[in-house]
Amino acid sequence: MNNNGEVKCGMQIDVMTLFPEVCKKYFSSSIIGRARNKGILDIKCHQIRDFAYDKHKRVDDTPYGGGKGMVMLPDPIFKCFENICALRGTRPHLIYMSPKGKVFNQNIAKELKTYSNMAILCGHYEGVDERILEEIVDEYISIGDYVLTGGEIPAMAVIDAVSRMIPGVLSEDICFEEESHYIGMLEYPQYTKPYEWHGKKVPEVLISGHHAKIEEWKKENSIKETKKYRPDIFSKFNV
Ligand code: SAH
Repeated sequence: MNNNGEVKCGMQIDVMTLFPEVCKKYFSSSIIGRARNKGILDIKCHQIRDFAYDKHKRVDDTPYGGGKGMVMLPDPIFKCFENICALRGTRPHLIYMSPKGKVFNQNIAKELKTYSNMAILCGHYEGVDERILEEIVDEYISIGDYVLTGGEIPAMAVIDAVSRMIPGVLSEDICFEEESHYIGMLEYPQYTKPYEWHGKKVPEVLISGHHAKIEEWKKENSIKETKKYRPDIFSKFNV
């Protein structure tokens, strides 16, 4: 909030896709939906097909040199991005979701949150004409070493992870700085009501009210969880 009591928009995000309805539904729900309603996040999903020039609204064609599947045309994407730049009055940092990109993690999310304007291009079918990528894309990001049918799920994953670090998106009592991966370690186990369930009790220390002991328990158990579930991460720490 600024001095006038107005909510400050933390980030403007634009998604270019052939399936905006898939993303719109997600961005209207839960924590992200609430942050958008409050004006903390401004997310817009753009239909690339709206920028197709021929009467059939064609957005893809067969690949030169042969091969299976269809490739997305460069021009509708170019026009769609030009429209976003005009709408926002600035040129957003543009990411192409691609299995060729660097693999997304919390550190990349932290870097991305520094942009006030970010745009994401979602490929589909066999991908996108190389020339548009050369011309407008700033970086490639992958969400893992596997191939999906489209960039929409990867874009939602990136936007979700970045958004929840924008001030005001999470309610005050949830703090992303204590979560898995933020400081490198995984989170300690969490418990809620009832105190006893299926004969299993909540660890005694958590109901002791002794803050220092609780903190110590959380730290110890973060280390234990990391060692158990992600020994690869654990081995990088000197604990
Ligand atoms: N033929 C391409 C894959 C196309 S998959 C290749 O071999 O590299 C169709 C689209 O889905 C891609 O353009 C990309 O936007 C998206 N996609 C698929 N897997 C992805 C992943 N692991 N990370 C990010 N985007 C992905």
